[in-house]
Parts: sequence; C-alpha cells; structure tokens
Amino acid sequence: MMGSLSDFALAVLRLAVWLGLLAAIFAPLERVFALRRQSGRLRHAPADIGFYFLNSLLPVAILAPPFGLLAAGLRQVTPEAYVSAAAGLPIWARLAAGLLVSEIGGYWGHRLCHEVPPLWRFHVLHHAPDHVDWLISSRAHPVDQVFEKFCALTPLYVLGLVQPTPQGLGLAAWIAIFGTIWGFFVHANVRWRLGLLEQLVSTPAFHHWHHTACENRDHNYAALFPMVDRLFGTHYLPRHWPAAYGVDAPQPDTMAEQLLRPLGLGPRA
Ligand SMILES: [Zn+2]
Ligand SMILES: [Zn+2]
Repeated sequence: MMGSLSDFALAVLRLAVWLGLLAAIFAPLERVFALRRQSGRLRHAPADIGFYFLNSLLPVAILAPPFGLLAAGLRQVTPEAYVSAAAGLPIWARLAAGLLVSEIGGYWGHRLCHEVPPLWRFHVLHHAPDHVDWLISSRAHPVDQVFEKFCALTPLYVLGLVQPTPQGLGLAAWIAIFGTIWGFFVHANVRWRLGLLEQLVSTPAFHHWHHTACENRDHNYAALFPMVDRLFGTHYLPRHWPAAYGVDAPQPDTMAEQLLRPLGLGPRA
C-alpha cells in the first residue's frame, strides 16, 4: 500500500515537472508568436491543469489490464512464425509501422467521436473552448481518452508490433509520449505557417481548423499525418486561419460538471 502510494506520488511529481517544462517552452512561444490575444485563459487554466493530471493517469490505468489480456490472448492464437518475424523487424521499421497503424486507428477513433452522438457527448468537452492554446490539448473527458487511446493502440497489439516484452511495451510508450508532446504543439496559439511541412505532419494550422466554430470542424482528425485525412476525404487546410473556435451548445463551467454531464449526472444533466 505504501509502495503504491509513493509510486502514485512519484507519478504526480513527474507529471508536475513535465507540465513545468511544457509551460517553459510554450508560454514564451505563445507570447512572442501569438495568433490571437487570449482573454479567458486564466479562468480556464485550473480545469485544464486538472484534466492534464487526470488524463495522464486515469486512462492508462484503466487500459493497462485489458491491453495485458489482449496481448496475452493474441499471443496464444498468433502463429509463432509471424510473432518472431514481427519481433525480428528492425526498431525503425517497427516504429514506422507502429506510428502508421496507430495513426489510422486513432483517426477512426477520433472520427467516430464526432459522428456517433453518444461519443460526441464526451468529446465535445475538447471542442467547447472559444480559444485554442497548448494547454487545451489536455482538456478531454477520460471516457473520450480511453476510447481514443483504445482505438489508436489496439492495432499495434493485433498486428504484433507491440508484444508483452519490455522492448515491445517500450515502443508503445514512446509512440504514446511522442503523440502527447506533438498534441501540445498542434494546439499552440502560434501564427506559424510551415509551408510544405504542413502536408507531411500535423501543425497548429491543421489542428486549429479542427477546432473551428464553423461546419469545417469535422475535418483534420489525424494526430500526426495529414495524409491520413487526405486518404479518407476529411482534409481541410486553407491559407487563412479559422475566424472563431468552439461549439454552439453552452457547456458547463466547472470541471466537476464537465465530467459528470456526459454521464447523465450532475445538477444540470
Ligand atoms: Zn475532435
Ligand atoms: Zn484539439
């Protein structure tokens, strides 16, 4: 018990250090290269920081047991020749294949969150703010995060790119960490346009259009590679920036209400 408590305290401390580092990088960048003046930032910051800690800890804890079972179950039914061929791939090939399949799984998870009303009830929390900046990346309902991570990571296990070995789990963790850090970048309130690079990797302009208040919101679902949106017909990246962000329906102000309302609970549910 003491051990798990100190592990938890250590995890919180590590996340606090990460948050400090991220703030040290993005706060000055957003000041110097601001796309827009942020008026309501301070009002939203406490809840966004709460979501940062919650979403860094809870979805991983919820998903660890099913992914452990999935990996063990698949290990029983996958032919040995395939397992050793996948494990024998060079690390760069597994990383490239892993990024691609998790991107496609994540794309469809995210798209379903927009197109299936019960999933949108949870996902709308991420789209509610009328401003976009680096910290918005964390603002999401844990149920939404569990679903999207499940969609992004399951193909890695099914294709045998992640195996129940320290090395294999390391790959999944690195893909998840890289995706998380990139997520902060694409939300940043910076006015950078990056030319040809915008065709290859997701950028602030690409993802800001995903937060637009107009009908083009249902585009640009990819976390890393805009090519996946091109492939499935949802790419949208004009030369200008969105005029406004957010959703029409009023959203609850407090973190507690934001967590409870999609579950049908809370005072105004
Ligand atoms: Zn979305
Ligand atoms: Zn976003």
